Amino acid sequence: MTDQSHRGHVAVIGGGVAGLTAAHELAKNGARVTLLEGTADVGGKLRVSEIAGVSVDEGAEAMLARRPEGLELVRELGLGDRLAFPGTTSAAIWSRGALHPMPAGQVMGVPADLVALARSQVLSPGGLARVPLDLVRPETPRGEDLSVADFVGARVGREVVDRLVEPLLGGVYAGRVEELSFEATMGGLAVASRSHRSLIAAARSVIEAAPANPGPVFTTLADGMGALPGALAAKVTELGGIVRTEAMVRELSRTPGGWRLTIGPARDPESLEVDAVVIAVPARPTARLLREESPAAAAELGRVEYASMAIVTLAYAVTAFPERPRRSGYLVPAVETRDVKAVTFSSTKWPHLTDGSPGLVVARCSIGRYGDEHALQRSDEELKAAAMTELARTSGVTELPIDARISRWGGGLPQYTVGHLERVARIRAAVAGLPGVAVCGAAYDGVGIPACVLSARTAAARVLEHLNGRGESDRSDEPVGERGGRAG
Ligand SMILES: Cc1cc2nc3c(=O)[nH]c(=O)nc-3n(C[C@H](O)[C@H](O)[C@H](O)COP(=O)(O)OP(=O)(O)OC[C@H]3O[C@@H](n4cnc5c(N)ncnc54)[C@H](O)[C@@H]3O)c2cc1C
Repeated sequence: MTDQSHRGHVAVIGGGVAGLTAAHELAKNGARVTLLEGTADVGGKLRVSEIAGVSVDEGAEAMLARRPEGLELVRELGLGDRLAFPGTTSAAIWSRGALHPMPAGQVMGVPADLVALARSQVLSPGGLARVPLDLVRPETPRGEDLSVADFVGARVGREVVDRLVEPLLGGVYAGRVEELSFEATMGGLAVASRSHRSLIAAARSVIEAAPANPGPVFTTLADGMGALPGALAAKVTELGGIVRTEAMVRELSRTPGGWRLTIGPARDPESLEVDAVVIAVPARPTARLLREESPAAAAELGRVEYASMAIVTLAYAVTAFPERPRRSGYLVPAVETRDVKAVTFSSTKWPHLTDGSPGLVVARCSIGRYGDEHALQRSDEELKAAAMTELARTSGVTELPIDARISRWGGGLPQYTVGHLERVARIRAAVAGLPGVAVCGAAYDGVGIPACVLSARTAAARVLEHLNGRGESDRSDEPVGERGGRAG
């Protein structure tokens, strides 16, 4: 346990990976922390449960291994030996009536290698012929931001957008390419495209700049990414922090010395006074919490849309398949108008899952894109039937699954629509006007786990800086931490 008397009392609202990471950083640095999670369990979009006797993630199932933040966190928690890596990364795309291997040499679907693209047969001959026009076309005017469809379509043609970029981005944001921001969702490629007239040349420069032996793209935990929240919560508690569940925060208001949180149901509210607050909940609940104290931030946050989705996980006896799936999975472009947008053969991608059950095939089928809410307004049985139909069609499955699990993620993924980066800058500027308040999580600088970890660390650092400043200017002898209300 660290000495918590020299800093303040910080409330962290939200027990997803961002809130837990922020709480961990704060507790490590001597703050007194109370984390408040509204539901019965911490974890948010990270949750693991058993299907056919095997622990399989219900939400996020992997994290980027080419960014440091997720790996650092796992190692810091002493879980480095639980890291697991994919058995294969060979994925496919369903296009024009067949599965095709994902073309090599592409960046988020934008081709850098036109020969590999042609070989993959993902595009029609007409679509393929359009791609190299990018090399000779004049610069595409783009101002501050354009949609992915507008910019990538103008450069390499609509078919690349529909059959490569859309399914890949769909896997991350479950969004619509007509609305997603090129700048906010295509990261390094967007930066490179500022110094290359041709998008193909920009994609080539991104690939050339990558290290020669970068190692695996993804990693997971042997017990599932859903094991991370419990480990984080345990560490926060070990460091002297308090982790509360079923503690929905309904209001946030300023007091002379800090902030007052109203927690729990309206008929039986509880008040908690603290020196500082990290808000690590999705954009809409953040907007509600900031409505009174920062209407400007609340208005911007209220404009962040979310996509809902369902993950249907099916477990089959391997004999149900004509041959054991060899690929990690495949994507289905929205233009194919099918229910399922992606299938992950979890037992192939993560061989450790079925070490003890070699006769099992586990497939995760993802349903639902932004604006497709009707696709989810179906019973569990109907969603299961849609997933089974998909597997019968592409993999020739003939038997019924031995187990099935439907995980619904209402408002699962924020949509980084055109203007997202400027919107986030305005939100941050407005929140900066609230002393001791910081925001973090998937709504801002990236939806992936490493990005959420970084945003949480940044929020924690901001709050610690505030507490330090207060400590220095504090004329009373009373330690800052003792002025906050007690955690319940
Ligand atoms: C189906 C799915 C699959 C994904 N797959 C991957 C993947 O493979 N790899 C990857 O890197 N990312 C993946 N993601 C994205 C990633 O999991 C999320 O972006 C990330 O986990 C979000 O973390 P967070 O802490 O920002 O928010 P959340 O996980 O949403 O946590 C917020 C928490 O705040 C709580 N809360 C809300 N309001 C209140 C309130 N008023 N008071 C108290 N508590 C409140 C919620 O109950 C929740 O627990 C996936 C997302 C989904 C939905």
